[in-house]
Amino acid sequence: MGSSNSSLQHIPNAQELIQDTGFSAAHIQRLYERFELLDRDQMGRLSVTYLSDLRVPDFEAIPELAMNPIGDRIIAAFFSPGKDTVDFPSFVRVLAHFQPTDSNRTRDSSGQEPYNSPNRKLRFAFQLYDQDGDGKISRAELLQVLQEMLGMPDTDELLQSVAERAIQEADLDQDDAISFEEFKKCLEKVDIDQKMRIGFLS
Ligand code: CA
Ligand code: CA
Repeated sequence: MGSSNSSLQHIPNAQELIQDTGFSAAHIQRLYERFELLDRDQMGRLSVTYLSDLRVPDFEAIPELAMNPIGDRIIAAFFSPGKDTVDFPSFVRVLAHFQPTDSNRTRDSSGQEPYNSPNRKLRFAFQLYDQDGDGKISRAELLQVLQEMLGMPDTDELLQSVAERAIQEADLDQDDAISFEEFKKCLEKVDIDQKMRIGFLS
């Protein structure tokens, strides 16, 4: 333990991040190495351009994002509103959503649900759809995601009927949009841990 702790000394907020995210010291170290590789100008922050290098296949950083059809949205999720760079602690906190759920750990150090709880994972996924952040997935937002995933124009009839059916099935209060509660209910049977994972962490 002693040696791994001392090698964390140059990493910003390492101990706090271990507490908050449940990542091990070894994980944090590995993530920091990735971060430093991406941080080409060594300013301690990644811009969208740098983070997009995650998607260059031969970079061998996080290939899962490159293969994910909504990879751009996931990359955008690293940035707080109005910010165009992300520092190491924020980078790690976003990635913490992709850790397997740890049922022994129900609260983080500030008393919140941990990032890798099923609820927070679903919240993260929901926000990838709810691009205007009004707390609902509208028909247009759903169409937009389907279009990106399937690579079809949003005028396509099949695409529209898929969106229509999804809304009909999920929209319990019939306001023509999917709330977070409705989204959660819809995904009750989906193994969110399986869907939201990044291989290099394991
Ligand atoms: Ca919305
Ligand atoms: Ca609804």
